[in-house]
Amino acid sequence: MSPSGNDDAFAEVKARVDLVKVVQEHVRLTKRNRDLWGLCPFHQEDSPSFKVDPQRQSWYCFGCERHGDVFTFVELIEKTDKRGALQLLAERAGVELQQLSPEQKERVDSKKRVLAMLKLAAQYYEYVLWSIPAGEPGRRMLEQRQVSEETARRFQLGYAPAGRGFAEYLRAKKRSLVDAQVAGLMRRDGADFFAERLVIPIRDERGQTLAFTARTVRAEEQRKYINSPETPAYVKGRVIFGLDLAREEITKRGHAVLMEGQFDVITAHHFGVTNAVASSGTALTEDQVRLLKRFTDELLLVFDADRAGRSAARKAAVLVASQGMRTRVATMPEGLDPDEFLRAAGPDAAARWEELAGRAPSGFEAGLAEDAAGLNPSNPNQVEVVAGKIREFINQFPAGLREGYAEIGERRTGISRHLLLTAPVAPAARGRVREVATREGPGKYLVQLLAVRPDAFERVRAQVSPDELEPSDRGIYVRMLETYDRSGPNGLEAELRDYPIEAQEVIRRAWAKPPPRVDDELAEELAKRVRLNHMRNLENGIIRELSEAEGYLDSDRAVRMQTQLTQIGRAIADLEKEILTSRA
Ligand SMILES: [Zn+2]
Repeated sequence: MSPSGNDDAFAEVKARVDLVKVVQEHVRLTKRNRDLWGLCPFHQEDSPSFKVDPQRQSWYCFGCERHGDVFTFVELIEKTDKRGALQLLAERAGVELQQLSPEQKERVDSKKRVLAMLKLAAQYYEYVLWSIPAGEPGRRMLEQRQVSEETARRFQLGYAPAGRGFAEYLRAKKRSLVDAQVAGLMRRDGADFFAERLVIPIRDERGQTLAFTARTVRAEEQRKYINSPETPAYVKGRVIFGLDLAREEITKRGHAVLMEGQFDVITAHHFGVTNAVASSGTALTEDQVRLLKRFTDELLLVFDADRAGRSAARKAAVLVASQGMRTRVATMPEGLDPDEFLRAAGPDAAARWEELAGRAPSGFEAGLAEDAAGLNPSNPNQVEVVAGKIREFINQFPAGLREGYAEIGERRTGISRHLLLTAPVAPAARGRVREVATREGPGKYLVQLLAVRPDAFERVRAQVSPDELEPSDRGIYVRMLETYDRSGPNGLEAELRDYPIEAQEVIRRAWAKPPPRVDDELAEELAKRVRLNHMRNLENGIIRELSEAEGYLDSDRAVRMQTQLTQIGRAIADLEKEILTSRA
């Protein structure tokens, strides 16, 4: 290839494409004076330092100091070389490249033919669905699912009839059947790949059909959905379903609703949730997240409430965070899937959806709540297990988020943030934790210990006040303390018969079968643990109140509670550290 010919190609392409339009497919730009500014797609940042100069057709980032023209931009963003950038842009500009090798040329042409064939197929299926008797099964399915014709047409849904209708149609139009096979539309024998299925086009963010997914209308068919194979036009994991229709609304509302199924998205749009999209054919990929990032920084994840759905949501939250975006997780009530939820709400669907979205916790908090479900903070074994799970979850997120997440984790579970960031390094101390855990709670153990060794009151009374004990332990504790003050360490035996029957039983049992360890040091630790539990209960109360205050937009109260919460959170962390270090 001659260098001059090559230069011509670059010049010709450059003259025909607009840098601003190319950049805007990847970056949201805002006009400031005569330049356009946005968040740099090549480094992490919160405020825009990426500038596009439309007149010079050049760009510059003040953050990472990368810069260049439309070719360098495409090279970097598509991870290709100069040659690849030229090809992509030439395709876009419709410039025929003289310098393409025969294979490259064939690839470009083949992709073009496949795209044309997919477009034709989408039109054919749509025509069958609405205009001829053979489309009846498809129309019936849409009726059952309460999808209107208007919505169906927006997504260009169609129906593939039984047999070889599409092949006949192509023959009548004198089109190549081979192209239809390459496009994944037809089997070798000419039978339609999607026969007897409702056909859903999978389109890119510009509305170009790249593939299909198709739902059977036959009750006995095992494979509910089948998808187009990968073709020169379609790479799985790079397309977001519904994005062409949702992109404007996503930008307007500030977030995208990410669902699991294409039909969920169609129903969502029908009921007014028009910022809904789905990752198509695969679990969410990094390419898909980057694609969405061009339109928003926040995804509202809507997955099934079963285990698979929850696990998918966790993975998505981590993946999305790695691209510098936020997630929230919406949970459907009563195990409904989103499709059912919206249809059940009928005319109120949009409003009910708003409520649901408003309540959705962050992706991290949703996973945290799952890990901490049923946690009993006074069971040290359980605390260790839960801390381990949360720690593992936190460590999957980018380093910059972890401290903040550990703080949230501490507030919600009462487990110290240190323990949520780093695994404890003193395994020797654990034997003792287990020993304590064999009894019911620190309060109960403390009462038994004091029954056997009343002298320990001297250490204990400085660490805990009676009102910090659980109500079930408080009565007996106060009585024993009175006895001790009145009659000393040996008074209990003489005064025991005046105690309530249940208290007598507890003390007699402790005498008959003393707890595994009875000493002042443990007594003091148990007293601290009682106090710790009490503080955690207080903290939970504040968190509940706080979420109420936030729900009612009572910001003064919310701020006051937030301060209290921070204070008690610190006190809890200090006490936990004290307990751990006193053991070491
Ligand atoms: Zn940059």
